[in-house]
Amino acid sequence: MKSQNHKSIVVGAGIAGLAAAVRLRAAGHEVVVYDQNNWPGGKLAEYSSEGYRFDMGPSLFTMPQLIEELFDLAQVEIQPYFQYSKEETVCRYYFEDGTRFNAYADRNRYIQEACKTFDVDAQTLRKYLQRNAFKYNRTKSLFLEKSLHRLKTYLSIDTIKGILAMPRLDMLSSLDQVNRRTFKDPRLVQLFNRYATYNGSTPYRAPGIMSLIPHLEMDLGTFFPRGGMVSIPRAVHQLAIDIGVRFELSTKVDEIVCDSGHVVGVRAGERIERADHVVCNADMYSAYKNLMPRVDAPQKAMNQERSSSGIIFYWGIQRSFPELQLHNIFFAQDYQREFDWIAEGGEWHNDPTVYLNITSKKEAADAPAGCENWFVMINVPAKADEDWEERVAIARKAVIQKLSRLLNCDLAALIAVENVLTPPLIQSRTSSHLGALYGSASNDRMAAFFRHPNFHSTIDGLYFCGGSVHPGGGIPLCLLSGKIVAEIIASKT
Ligand SMILES: Cc1cc2nc3c(=O)[nH]c(=O)nc-3n(C[C@H](O)[C@H](O)[C@H](O)COP(=O)(O)OP(=O)(O)OC[C@H]3O[C@@H](n4cnc5c(N)ncnc54)[C@H](O)[C@@H]3O)c2cc1C
Repeated sequence: MKSQNHKSIVVGAGIAGLAAAVRLRAAGHEVVVYDQNNWPGGKLAEYSSEGYRFDMGPSLFTMPQLIEELFDLAQVEIQPYFQYSKEETVCRYYFEDGTRFNAYADRNRYIQEACKTFDVDAQTLRKYLQRNAFKYNRTKSLFLEKSLHRLKTYLSIDTIKGILAMPRLDMLSSLDQVNRRTFKDPRLVQLFNRYATYNGSTPYRAPGIMSLIPHLEMDLGTFFPRGGMVSIPRAVHQLAIDIGVRFELSTKVDEIVCDSGHVVGVRAGERIERADHVVCNADMYSAYKNLMPRVDAPQKAMNQERSSSGIIFYWGIQRSFPELQLHNIFFAQDYQREFDWIAEGGEWHNDPTVYLNITSKKEAADAPAGCENWFVMINVPAKADEDWEERVAIARKAVIQKLSRLLNCDLAALIAVENVLTPPLIQSRTSSHLGALYGSASNDRMAAFFRHPNFHSTIDGLYFCGGSVHPGGGIPLCLLSGKIVAEIIASKT
């Protein structure tokens, strides 16, 4: 570890805050992390009851190399802290017309299965997947790995290549238009439209470049961390402690203190702790409103459309279902109507797409013998003026009916343990504005540019990481935001 010339405070022990803390400590800073919760990980939380264990937040883990990188930087062997394995089946899909589809990780097997199930030929599918890979490889450097708000970014060869590739990135079409142009089978269009929800957007407005997301899942792979998703923040938290980061958990920061264009430190209650740099991992909207009301907030970022939220049921199920996988999707019949409600303020409709995650398929200890731990989620709008108690009751009934029908069982009778997470609860537990899962949505082609930068333009020493800022939400992008912040700080010190 290098000498400690600088002191950095990170507000929030979400996955991005933890990553930033490890990187800054590895660069020799004295680092302190504050979190209002008594656990590290923010949205990556856990709930246990009567022998069932549930991951409460994320369930899909991609790009594990970003976790590996933290251990490499700290020169610590990862194995004792964190282990994971690659999944052979990415997801099992259920359509209302009776179609079932297992999305295998192996490319050839996937294509073979898809050609048997859908009206598509291997060449069309292969070309689509190749184009997704092209979009990812050409733009990752510009849109994911660097600050979009520094001149330096635009002077690199990778960025220039990305800009030159723009006409082939489908920026002017929606994801739905790209998928409808490619596939004539509406089920396949629906399947590939779903990827817009990976950052809480609607496929009917999100730009076609978003078809790079299936590349992350299908080519780079999906993984399962031993011990469940909470083992990700726990491993990074333990690493941070072991290399000398100080944690102040159960401590709410009341103010990010700034003076005359410089950051001074943070105030928790009466106590002010000073630092050279403050990295805000709290949702940026809530941070401007509550922690630094006198600091100029970029209005475009503040007014950006929020990503979708979710209602999540955690159900202990007194039976096992051999046909189900770790990840399962039960599609709505009318996808467009579902997104009319989620993203356009339309009417609630009673047939939501249901995502079902069962970690006891991988970790037997997550449920009693012969039982399963079901994480059951539907997408809903991130909204304050909604009667969420009533919505939960209606959604519960609709989900139980749908799953009972498609799995041929009486689901209500199998639920032994129950808990539920709603948008207001997500907001109160993590400060996420309106309970948005992924910060701001990518519902127009300029969304990436309007997202909040990783630094403040006029307050020296004030930085931002996490799902509500560039490059966006989801674990991999949050880890990348921690990396971008640490690199910007390193370039200035
Ligand atoms: C139900 C659900 C499902 C999801 N599914 C997936 C998935 O499958 N895959 C995926 O990649 N992503 C998924 N996501 C998104 C992912 O969880 C987030 O993008 C990511 O975890 C956000 O991390 P973050 O670093 O922004 O911090 P957050 O997790 O938002 O944490 C912010 C932290 O800041 C702390 N904080 C805020 N204000 C203060 C303050 N004043 N003082 C002290 N501490 C403060 C909070 O307590 C919190 O711990 C899901 C999210 C949810 C909720």
